Amino acid sequence: MAGVKTFRSYAISNFASLAITIELFWWIGLHTAKTFCLFGFGSVEVAHHRSEFLIFIPSRRGICGGSTESEKLCYTGKIMPDMDVIIIGAGVAGLTCGCLLAQKGLKVLIVEKNQKIGGCCSSFRKEGFSFDLSVQSLGECQEGGRIWNFLKKFDLLDQIRFISLEPAREYHFPDQKIVQSSQLETHIENLSRLFSKEREGIEKVYDVLRKIFDEFSKIPSSFNWFDPSSFSSQFPFLSKYKDKTFGQLLNEHLSHPFLKTILSIRSSYGLLPPEEVSVAGMAGIEMSYFNHGVSCVEEKVEELPLKMGGVFERMNGKIFLEQEVEKIMTEQKRAIGIKLKSGQEFTGKVIVSNIDAQRTFSTLLGEDQIPSGFRSKLKGMRPSLSYFILYLGIDGELEELSVSNNEVFFDDQLSEEYQALYENRIPNGAPFYLLAPSRVNPSHAPEGKSTLCLSMKAPYHFSRGWDQKVIDDLSQYLILKASVLVPDLNKRILVRAEATPKTIEKWTGNFQGAAYGWAQIPGQSGILRLQRTTPIPNLFLTGHWTSPGGGIAAVVASGELTAEAIWSKFERGEF
Ligand SMILES: Cc1cc2nc3c(=O)[nH]c(=O)nc-3n(C[C@H](O)[C@H](O)[C@H](O)COP(=O)(O)OP(=O)(O)OC[C@H]3O[C@@H](n4cnc5c(N)ncnc54)[C@H](O)[C@@H]3O)c2cc1C
Repeated sequence: MAGVKTFRSYAISNFASLAITIELFWWIGLHTAKTFCLFGFGSVEVAHHRSEFLIFIPSRRGICGGSTESEKLCYTGKIMPDMDVIIIGAGVAGLTCGCLLAQKGLKVLIVEKNQKIGGCCSSFRKEGFSFDLSVQSLGECQEGGRIWNFLKKFDLLDQIRFISLEPAREYHFPDQKIVQSSQLETHIENLSRLFSKEREGIEKVYDVLRKIFDEFSKIPSSFNWFDPSSFSSQFPFLSKYKDKTFGQLLNEHLSHPFLKTILSIRSSYGLLPPEEVSVAGMAGIEMSYFNHGVSCVEEKVEELPLKMGGVFERMNGKIFLEQEVEKIMTEQKRAIGIKLKSGQEFTGKVIVSNIDAQRTFSTLLGEDQIPSGFRSKLKGMRPSLSYFILYLGIDGELEELSVSNNEVFFDDQLSEEYQALYENRIPNGAPFYLLAPSRVNPSHAPEGKSTLCLSMKAPYHFSRGWDQKVIDDLSQYLILKASVLVPDLNKRILVRAEATPKTIEKWTGNFQGAAYGWAQIPGQSGILRLQRTTPIPNLFLTGHWTSPGGGIAAVVASGELTAEAIWSKFERGEF
């Protein structure tokens, strides 16, 4: 690294006047490039030279064609030489962490491999229809919620609008329909009316989830995990349930099998059956939804990361798009910088990885860099499952649907579905999710038309592979089954697109297309999930591979906790 610094000093002292000239060219280049974008001739991407200067390279892809915010984000300003913090990946967690550290006055660079920021929280357009890639509904967006508080802190509340979903969803069983409220008290009341003898048990289950969620939210980023005595006295519920599954909690308090099935449905939002999902994981899934309502973002879900990126840049944060990080550079086993696929290198006092943890350690760092105990821990960890998703633009309104968010079951055998998935099969009669985003967000479809999103859980190593024939077969299966709720669906399809676990993996870089990072099983949940600090000094983690886990509200929490841990080190003068 000495070489990098020597080169930099040389460049600074000897090329000061050249820098002014380049700045001038930069300004002219920026404005010329913007003009080109406006006229649709293509776009530019900003590349960084290893010195202080920027150069423009014509991009192969049109990244500036989107919204004004995305357009702005592809023109990053002049970059500072050595960064305080470099964040790998511009997912919601990376952006949260970046905003909070930039607000403290640190020099922060975010490097993103895609042509736009947001990771899983992205949207796309096809033939006049707009689709959200994956995230459909969010918790904690209403007043007082974690996302709401974050937006308030950055004066973004008037720039993003949320539509509240009430009821949150409907579950369709062969001979029964269950409506789930987004308000916990109403939900408990509705269930207690259906299962009057079980009221006390239902209340107890949610009481445990609420207490665990509250305790977890209060753990400071600096908590000493290695002091078990203080942990169990300060966080009694987390401690008591740390090895337990949600299935065990249900069995402790409830007896009616169908009631247990109903309470278990939401474990599928962690892509696990109740007998595998941890109580801590389930507390996160359930309570982040029941806490401050269930919402969707008005217009496109990617408005959220785009607005976060905008505010980050206004605080002098820098974002590099279409730049893949290939290596985390180390010196004496400490993280000191990154190397891009293009060969460019940047140094930073702190490196934060918002990307897949498996890739962070085994590829970007290299297995020889990590202690053997941690290496074997990682090898034994299990990613969450993934999804097959079919996005449809359809003719006509969807008045036949009473809510936008439906989950359809053909029986109540949740465990058998998972058994098949673990054998890399998708069982006949697999349940599916039906979302009708344009019912709540009419801007997703042209007038008189609608959008539908049909999906099902899917294994990455599907025994039939993921070729076009398989994609067509699964699409037909979903369309046929969804016709139960939307008659004549097949005839009404105007536009169609699909995502498989491979698509999700390609877009986000997430190992095996994992939708929520590591599976929320007891050994990978709560205090046992990977933490934000790592065995490599100066390397931190943020996002759904670390605690608390998957979901937008959770990764905002993760970004906040990582930022807090880093800032406290800066405050203590450790960097
Ligand atoms: C199909 C699906 C449906 C979902 N539905 C919901 C939902 O309805 N509600 C909800 O709250 N959550 C949902 N989730 C979960 C949620 O989207 C994720 O947990 C969350 O967005 C993860 O955010 P993150 O910041 O941890 O990382 P990601 O979103 O995974 O972002 C990581 C970023 O790093 C970039 N990157 C990767 N490798 C590199 C590299 N080498 N160099 C540079 N950049 C790199 C990627 O391009 C990406 O932008 C869903 C997820 C999926 C997949």
